[in-house]
Amino acid sequence: MIQSPRRKRAYVETYGCQMNISDSELMEGILEESGYDIVDAPEDADVVLVNTCAIREHAEKRVLGRVSQLNGLKRENPDLVIAVTGCMAQRMGEKLLREAPYVQLVVGPDGYRSLPETLAKLDVGADVGLSHEIGKAGRKGRQLAVLTLDMDENYQGLEQRRSEGPSAWIPIQRGCDHRCTFCIVPYVRGGEKNRSAKDVVAEVRGLAESGVTEVTLLGQTVNSYLWEGVDFPHLLRDVARVDGIRRVRFTSPHPNDVSDELVEVMAAEPAVCEHLHLPAQSGNDRTLKRMLRRYTVGYLLEKVSLVREAMPGIALSTDIIVAFPGETEDEFRDTLDLMRTVRFDEAFTYKYSLRAGTPATRLPAEDFIGGDEAQARLVELIEVSRAIQSEINHAEVGRIDEVLIEAEARDLGQVRGRTRRNKVVVFDGEVARVGEYTHVALERTTGATFAGSEVAEPLPVPV
Ligand code: SF4
Repeated sequence: MIQSPRRKRAYVETYGCQMNISDSELMEGILEESGYDIVDAPEDADVVLVNTCAIREHAEKRVLGRVSQLNGLKRENPDLVIAVTGCMAQRMGEKLLREAPYVQLVVGPDGYRSLPETLAKLDVGADVGLSHEIGKAGRKGRQLAVLTLDMDENYQGLEQRRSEGPSAWIPIQRGCDHRCTFCIVPYVRGGEKNRSAKDVVAEVRGLAESGVTEVTLLGQTVNSYLWEGVDFPHLLRDVARVDGIRRVRFTSPHPNDVSDELVEVMAAEPAVCEHLHLPAQSGNDRTLKRMLRRYTVGYLLEKVSLVREAMPGIALSTDIIVAFPGETEDEFRDTLDLMRTVRFDEAFTYKYSLRAGTPATRLPAEDFIGGDEAQARLVELIEVSRAIQSEINHAEVGRIDEVLIEAEARDLGQVRGRTRRNKVVVFDGEVARVGEYTHVALERTTGATFAGSEVAEPLPVPV
């Protein structure tokens, strides 16, 4: 009897943001469709894809360490192919292949559709077409780079391989038309490209039929979405009205596109959750201008008022960068003032990280802020934002909130869930209940997360 050849096995490891997690699911879907089995460990794979982030230097260093570690697997499996995909692959390109000669393939975000063909080229040594051959690596003897950014590639028609569970992330947009001077994204992901609204809604319908009840719409500036006259508020409303969908979230919006219409839809549609991530980046107008954020602090505060008037009690989160080149001590203090004025429920805080190729690198050398000073600002910002978060959360002890059970908690016999306002709650429960909605009385908080107990009687969802 002739045995059919063993199916190839691929393992995808992800670093970075939710868009990257979603892209990894997309690559898994593409590879599965073309005959690969997706495995859970690099030791079991013929191809390891490391899907990377380029936002900060630290993330890139971690990936270089990781691929060097993966190279150790070649002792057991000399034919193992190591590929680096995503933003760092796009940013470093051939340099990465030189620095890590055991990596055979770098593929930027617009090269995923042709991944099976590119991998086949490594195998058979065929003409490389779209990609180009860089040098020699490993037994297979070639290194390839697929780095073309393609404005027509909006990932239409490609299926993600989704893990089971009640929640799904739906990319509706990729790339970005802004040019914030600290940010590498437009250079590694290209300009904004949106998916067809019809496709997005059809995908959400399909997911709802398969048991998904919560979706998060994803895009770099998700609320600037526009497809053939359908803007983001309309798409959000259509998604929120899909039968079976109980919760809709979206990330990350740009403050400039938080329009009256968007806020009206958020307030009117019961499925849209009472949480908004509003990346402020700084609380000082001169810094915002030099970051090219295209809004002022006053404008941002108007948006906060607009949202809070329409949805009292909405939870707000933000991103803040400290020590942007040229930021004075007083300007940094303005950011602390913004935190105290808005009182965000959660803040993701960063020190400015220099990214080659971004406009901020061309600022005068004397503007760059030393490591100790930058670190001191970050520490102070974290202290202020955590204290505010803790005060807000302590005041919420006693609430009864609807919770979607998401996963097993760290302690045996407990589960972890999330409220509509994006607060994490741990309580007693069986892991078999993941995907269920329940109501939980919030009894204690660490300042960041809650512990509680289920209440017998479901109550109306508080806002
Ligand atoms: S809006 Fe600015 S920070 Fe956000 S992805 Fe675009 S360039 Fe980067």
